[in-house]
Amino acid sequence: MKRALTLFCLWILAVHGVETDYDYVVVGTSPISLFEAIYRTCQGNRVLVVEQAAECGGAWKSITICGIPHVDLGCHEFGKDARVQQFLEQYAGCTIIQNAPRDGGKSAKNWGIYPAGGCYELTHNLELLMEAVGTKLLLNSRLESVYVDTAREIAEVKINGKIYTTPKVVVTGCSDVRMENTWREPVSNHSKYPHIYILIADATPTRFTYAQPGIRGVSRVMNVSQFLGLEETGLQLIAMQIHGESFLQNGPKYFEELKKLKLIDASAELLRTENYIYEQVTLDRGQLQHAFFEILDTSHIANIGSQAEKWKTSMRPWNEIMAKTY
Ligand SMILES: Cc1cc2nc3c(=O)[nH]c(=O)nc-3n(C[C@H](O)[C@H](O)[C@H](O)COP(=O)(O)OP(=O)(O)OC[C@H]3O[C@@H](n4cnc5c(N)ncnc54)[C@H](O)[C@@H]3O)c2cc1C
Repeated sequence: MKRALTLFCLWILAVHGVETDYDYVVVGTSPISLFEAIYRTCQGNRVLVVEQAAECGGAWKSITICGIPHVDLGCHEFGKDARVQQFLEQYAGCTIIQNAPRDGGKSAKNWGIYPAGGCYELTHNLELLMEAVGTKLLLNSRLESVYVDTAREIAEVKINGKIYTTPKVVVTGCSDVRMENTWREPVSNHSKYPHIYILIADATPTRFTYAQPGIRGVSRVMNVSQFLGLEETGLQLIAMQIHGESFLQNGPKYFEELKKLKLIDASAELLRTENYIYEQVTLDRGQLQHAFFEILDTSHIANIGSQAEKWKTSMRPWNEIMAKTY
């Protein structure tokens, strides 16, 4: 009888596989990871998304800075791919505008597409979509380690001290993953991206949205005012990505440089400067047991364009999902 029961259990396992807590555990919440998680949920999978930060977005998250909420972390460009625009509008409910000054700045370059409400609009909508389709999201939760059980063909992931099982962990080139059963210590490669924000009083129209102004120590600059609805307030908020932490004290100096370059008005007043450093990790691919991991290509946001057709096969348009939910 006992033998028959054992054989029956083995048969069940052979037919149905090992029962796990989730079909996929996705590490990180930059937009491509979230679209992928939503797509897999829509295919009928149980998907857990784990994010160590308090908010979604990764390098595309928004922060509260100089007293203003929902400000883009740093400077961004989405590119000019019409497929990305169409997908973000129809499937993420974003209003897409041009990354160029709405008025004024007639000679300013157009850097392609951008959500009207900045990166916050995209990541916030993706959070709403996850809730609507049933993707489980854990914020403030670090995936501490992964143990691969090759006999059962599952990975055990430790999150907040709790173990969850899954056959597949979905990571990106920026996931900080530590294997428990590895033959060597993981190489943790952290890069820092320091930013200076300057809040100014300048009632003239925005003259640029994105620029590489050739200021020493500055990689790129973004005037995020119009994405925050600051027009008509007399305030402008400018984000600057700088080359290193040694330049972090240069806010007032860079403010003067922007005046000289006529990117802001000569009468502008500096109200406040604040700094923000984003830290990114390079995935240690060598220690992964690759059969249990899938690595998404998140290297450029424009990759949304090449994935969109696949995602559309299972996702429903934003309006349909939201009409059903609310
Ligand atoms: C400042 C900055 C600006 C950029 N601007 C652009 C741009 O304009 N256009 C463009 O195409 N690309 C840009 N990039 C490139 C950018 O890295 C990619 O577009 C994209 O964000 C990469 O996504 P990712 O998920 O791999 O990494 P990230 O965006 O860094 O996200 C990784 C996420 O995973 C989380 N995470 C990592 N390990 C764990 C763990 N163990 N447990 C829980 N959570 C974890 C992190 O907290 C983070 O939220 C920029 C990068 C930076 C740093």
